[in-house]
Amino acid sequence: MSATPMPRAANAEGAIADPAASLDCRPFSKGLYIDGRWQKASQAHTIPVIDPATEDLLAEVADATVDDARRAVDAAAGAARAWRLTSPRQRSEILRTCYRLMIERSDMLARLVSLENGKALPDARGEIAYAAEFFRWNAEEAVRIPGELGRAPSGGNRILVDYEPIGIAVLITPWNFPAAMATRKIAPALAAGCTVILKPASETPLTAYALAGLYEEAGVPPGVVNVITTSTPGPVTAAMLGDPRVRKLSFTGSTGVGRQLLAEAAKTVLSSSMELGGNAPFLVFDDADLDAALDGAMVAKMRNAGEACTAANRFYVQAGIHDDFVAGLVGRMGALKVGPGSDPSTACGPMITAKAVDKIDRLVADAVARGAKVVLGGRRPEGKGFYYPPTVLIDVSPDAEMAREEIFGPVAAIYRFETQEQAIAWSNDTEYGLASYIFTRDLKRGLAVASEIESGMIALNRGLVSDPAAPFGGVKQSGLGREGGAHGVLEFLEAKYIATSF
Ligand code: NAD
Repeated sequence: MSATPMPRAANAEGAIADPAASLDCRPFSKGLYIDGRWQKASQAHTIPVIDPATEDLLAEVADATVDDARRAVDAAAGAARAWRLTSPRQRSEILRTCYRLMIERSDMLARLVSLENGKALPDARGEIAYAAEFFRWNAEEAVRIPGELGRAPSGGNRILVDYEPIGIAVLITPWNFPAAMATRKIAPALAAGCTVILKPASETPLTAYALAGLYEEAGVPPGVVNVITTSTPGPVTAAMLGDPRVRKLSFTGSTGVGRQLLAEAAKTVLSSSMELGGNAPFLVFDDADLDAALDGAMVAKMRNAGEACTAANRFYVQAGIHDDFVAGLVGRMGALKVGPGSDPSTACGPMITAKAVDKIDRLVADAVARGAKVVLGGRRPEGKGFYYPPTVLIDVSPDAEMAREEIFGPVAAIYRFETQEQAIAWSNDTEYGLASYIFTRDLKRGLAVASEIESGMIALNRGLVSDPAAPFGGVKQSGLGREGGAHGVLEFLEAKYIATSF
């Protein structure tokens, strides 16, 4: 490939003022990580990694072909038996070391996440802490893999259920949490005794490669974790999913790609876990604690500058509290500093790509055309970098495209409602069902609304729902299966029933 700007590591002669400039990206772009070694791809073509804050080239990473993907499956297959036979304690200790190393390197990892993804440093630090926690949690789960022994109702035999590693797992992750979406899959897979091939998003591959080196240091044997990047995810993934040795697909990304992958997985009847898109409603009732609702709104909307599957996409605010909520949100969102993620004073970094900004622009224009009023932001800035300012829209029509699609940016769309029934009906009027937020001082009402809302996760009087110790996942077209909690490791285990008499 040819690109004019040089990699950041090569042109860093004082030209870049931000603190991340000192980060040398070369160690994280050494090739594909297969069988515990950095290997060349079988083609010379590379994938550019672009800094969303400057549009400069950060690095170029290897571009795996179908043949490279087969090599990665060979490596995972070669390591599978020895890994599944390691003791749970041994796997636990290795995962615990991964946790320790991630914490020790959290500053560098956070700067790397911020550099390639664009998110503000505090968000990147939060992501690394969250990502590392999956290693600690699954180190604890590795030694608690369940098993059952029961008596058949006839009394004739015993029912013994053993949980075995499901087999080689293909893991596909998005760009919005380059560290956490990978560790949320790798840690439970390893705890269960599976070997894996990770295919991170091409926009943010450097964090995944940085972590690959760390697993090696922690004692993960060669071939247990393989990492490949590709500009042709369709055929490369199809080759892996079509290989009869692969027994698991775990995907996090958009619902559209998830549907395609489910169709692909159907060909080999592959166990599939899907963490897909969201369209989270954020309900504020008249009796809500206004400050708590505003604090929650800032987290639910502005964490990662809105680039989160759990991001509040539709603010439904009851008529009596509506104007105060709008005034408070405009004040808070208007005070956020927009800039490169690596600048410590930045609260809202750039979006991931120009295409992401185009989408936000389109959704805002559509909402305005249908009667919405812009009370903050709403105009993309000129100049370099994929920026969009914090924006608040009021009087958004339920027919607006942004009521159906993920905005995935710093835009708060506010809809006024009158009755509880109306708010519930609007909340459920979507194909998605990932996360929802409810703010009310009346716990009885909060729990009643929570039970009516079609959503895998509910935050009640809170703006944050994610927790490694809790089952993360969606209903409807937001996904299949759960990650985290006791459920996460079960996705990588298969129950084997043995009928016996004694
Ligand atoms: P995406 O679906 O475009 O890409 C996700 C991954 O799939 C990337 O690695 C990409 O390279 C790969 N991919 C793309 N096309 C493919 C194909 N045909 N075959 C195989 N792999 C393919 O999503 P994205 O833009 O990277 O991420 C944003 C989306 O992810 C949003 O919809 C967001 O809601 C969702 N997401 C969901 C969760 C969750 O836990 N539910 C978490 C984070 C993000």
